[in-house]
Amino acid sequence: MTSWTTWAETQPELPPAARGVLARELGPLTPSVAVPLSAATPAPSRLRREVVERLKAVVDRDAIHVDDQIRALHAGGQAYVDISRRRRGDTTAAPDAVITPADAAAVGRVLRVCAEESIAVVPWGGGTSVVGGLDPVADGHEAVVALDLSRLDQLLDVDPVSRLATFQPGIRTPAAEAALAPYGLTLGHVPQSFERASLGGYVVTRSAGQASTGVGRIDDLVSGLRMATPSGELVLAPVAGSAAGPDLRRLVLGSEGTLGVVTEVTLRVRALPETRHYEGWMVPSWEAGLLAMRGMIQEGPHPDIARLSDRRETEISMMMSRSGRATRAALASYLRMRRVSDGCLLITGYEGGAADVRYRRDAVRSALRNAGAVSLGAAAGRAWEHARFAAPALRDTMFDAGVLAETLETAATWTALPAVYDAVRTALAESLGRAVVGCHVSHLYPTGASLYFTVLSAADADDPDGQWMRAKAAANDAIVAAGGTISHHHAVGTVHRGHVTPDLGGDIGVRALRAMKRELDPTGILNPGKLLP
Ligand SMILES: Cc1cc2nc3c(=O)[nH]c(=O)nc-3n(C[C@H](O)[C@H](O)[C@H](O)COP(=O)(O)OP(=O)(O)OC[C@H]3O[C@@H](n4cnc5c(N)ncnc54)[C@H](O)[C@@H]3O)c2cc1C
Repeated sequence: MTSWTTWAETQPELPPAARGVLARELGPLTPSVAVPLSAATPAPSRLRREVVERLKAVVDRDAIHVDDQIRALHAGGQAYVDISRRRRGDTTAAPDAVITPADAAAVGRVLRVCAEESIAVVPWGGGTSVVGGLDPVADGHEAVVALDLSRLDQLLDVDPVSRLATFQPGIRTPAAEAALAPYGLTLGHVPQSFERASLGGYVVTRSAGQASTGVGRIDDLVSGLRMATPSGELVLAPVAGSAAGPDLRRLVLGSEGTLGVVTEVTLRVRALPETRHYEGWMVPSWEAGLLAMRGMIQEGPHPDIARLSDRRETEISMMMSRSGRATRAALASYLRMRRVSDGCLLITGYEGGAADVRYRRDAVRSALRNAGAVSLGAAAGRAWEHARFAAPALRDTMFDAGVLAETLETAATWTALPAVYDAVRTALAESLGRAVVGCHVSHLYPTGASLYFTVLSAADADDPDGQWMRAKAAANDAIVAAGGTISHHHAVGTVHRGHVTPDLGGDIGVRALRAMKRELDPTGILNPGKLLP
């Protein structure tokens, strides 16, 4: 179950240096206070009593929740505007009920009742969507329910010979990893949201973890799955490889709950790494870093983790990192030493067998030195590892301080990447005025890479949501115009659906996807208003 307004139990404080920099860069800030959950009062549920009774007959009686608190806890995901809304006590995103089925069969039965009664269904995994994927859009249906899959949280089967593991969709990553560990296996999929996001959520949003350059994105790990739909169950058995027609697993990947509810997923797993090594580098410029990364991924060997921050993000991460003293010290000494003003932080990480790690690391180190990079050593890598999941909790602190802090992402070919980078930064600066915009590349492909932007600005106390939505719309326009994808890993939801048509192959692609939806979800109850433009 998600918390009301904060990501973590304990909220970090801003380092004093960071407070000073924020005040200098962003101007006057208006601190804000979050309304407590106890004060949240969603509008009365629109779910008719007869429908509640029908639903109770197909799941266990205590699996239907219409009380204010549980509905409020499901009022949207983790985008800036979702949290901003909840902090103001605005519960317009609360569903009419929350249903927590105990097994896959119950999911199928709930979908059939909802189809017959015209109730929209929003599948709910870990609740970490940052693109409005959990918004309770009714789209003409008489009510909206959140189908919370958190009780489907088991590892069902492990095949150590084929290195496959079958999970229920609601299991969270730490629990999945703990269940695999006794077999000496790991999933290795580690997005920043890994503590709270679910495996089913990863699959339908085509998630990418921090080590996706080595492990691959979730798309590469899915081998089989089951999906409940109002028209029946789609069962795609695990395969090694197949040429038997179009791969319908790919249809489910990225479907965002609009075609069905994933009730089981079989994923490729790997041996727990014998060794892990993370280290930091300072490259002379963003351009030099990009060139070095392209060389690594195209010619090999390459690290499993490769994150290049632009100069602005390098400054931000130094400023925000409480545990980054080693990195700051190394950075400061390097900057003093070289008197460079355009240094960019690069983190490289290796996970695997000791000999393989040594071989790849030696080759990458020599390539980076040839590119003019200077080693910051393992201390910088450890500082990154220590802080790699800290940003979401820091965002809560930013809210309190009156700072708009949000991220957005895209990917582009190596050829288009510089233009996309420039276009997004320009769009954000023009829309927000005074703002700090940092960026990093974190997922490498032979053909291109992802770009992940972090934006800080003084929150407009009178119109915080409108302020960000205008900036986000400008960035979306810029991405499409410059040839980037509208999402590399956050998915489409409500926030990107107006810009997704080029990614879907134009109108004919959209029509084909709609035809699939009509077949699987004839009454259109599944996650209305998401994905499809
Ligand atoms: C702080 C933070 C950091 C993040 N970092 C990353 C990152 O590094 N990489 C990354 O890829 N993403 C990241 N995300 C985005 C988010 O975590 C991913 O999109 C994740 O895959 C969502 O999983 P979830 O279980 O929380 O899904 P939810 O948010 O619950 O749902 C997401 C969408 O999928 C649908 N859905 C969920 N489960 C199912 C199911 N079983 N069947 C059908 N539909 C379903 C929902 O209806 C919704 O439309 C981050 C988010 C936050 C808040």
